[in-house]
Amino acid sequence: MATTTFTKKSLDTDVFEQPAVAPALTPPPLDAAATTFAKKPKVTTGKSRKRDIPVGLWTKCPKCEELLFDKDLDENQKVCTKCAHHFPIGARERIHSLVETCSFEELNATMTSVDVLGFTGAASYKDKLAANIRKTSLPDAVVTGIGKIGEHRVALGVMDFTFLGGSMGAVVGEKLTRLIEAGTAKNLPVIIISTSGGARMYEGMLSLMQMAKTCGALAYHAQAKLPFISVLTHPTMAGVMASFATVGDLIIAEPGAMIGFAGARVIKDTTQAELPPGFQTSEFLLDHGLIDAIVPRNEMKAQLIGYIDFMMAGRQAAAGN
Ligand SMILES: [Zn+2]
Repeated sequence: MATTTFTKKSLDTDVFEQPAVAPALTPPPLDAAATTFAKKPKVTTGKSRKRDIPVGLWTKCPKCEELLFDKDLDENQKVCTKCAHHFPIGARERIHSLVETCSFEELNATMTSVDVLGFTGAASYKDKLAANIRKTSLPDAVVTGIGKIGEHRVALGVMDFTFLGGSMGAVVGEKLTRLIEAGTAKNLPVIIISTSGGARMYEGMLSLMQMAKTCGALAYHAQAKLPFISVLTHPTMAGVMASFATVGDLIIAEPGAMIGFAGARVIKDTTQAELPPGFQTSEFLLDHGLIDAIVPRNEMKAQLIGYIDFMMAGRQAAAGN
């Protein structure tokens, strides 16, 4: 990163210094001006074009291109008020939209990942973790806990894509496993809301282990005849899709979410065939029987209450929950 910025800087200096040298009019002030000028673009090079729009006021909908007032978007649970496009939503925001006020008790809130393998790519895993913790104010890519949805206590896990692409490392796997085990022990339904790019590459085999571990815990949960509802949101891919996200008693998805195992381009290159329209979307997977329902975000809470009412009929009353 540092080297690229440096090269850009020196390029800018060249561009600005050349005209300054050629006219040779008032050399000292021009030299000074050239250096200040050369510095200014350096500051702006790293900024994206998005930054030119006042931050935190408007967001352009990628689907209908409507400019949306951020306050309206937040009030509508990050769903476009014009075309109902579902924007990504953070884990804490989503929990807030689902559980009853003050009913959520977070589990393993301080558990953070460690760089067991000493992995270093373009940046070291250790640095990436520190940067993502700072950026998201989350300890890792999932928040888990027990809360009340309607009248029901549930074990709820919500992933956050902004933390390293929602990737599943040892901590995400462990937090989800402990959540499921807590659900089994307390006789509660488990709901996991997924959004993930897959297993966390920086943790190699240790991240792949989480696929088996989470599914193992869910198998015990199923043996106890307790329901697991898997909610897939945009995007849910790879290692997460190939493990706990697809073993729900009920698998529901948000509209228009990208859901799959390998990416569409990889599949296209491997099979050398044209992919059908809408491939790897919630709607396509509902048509083909992989998921059970598509539920818009603003109906999610009411639907989940309905599903749990049905699936836990008689159980929670008997257990005194
Ligand atoms: Zn829209």
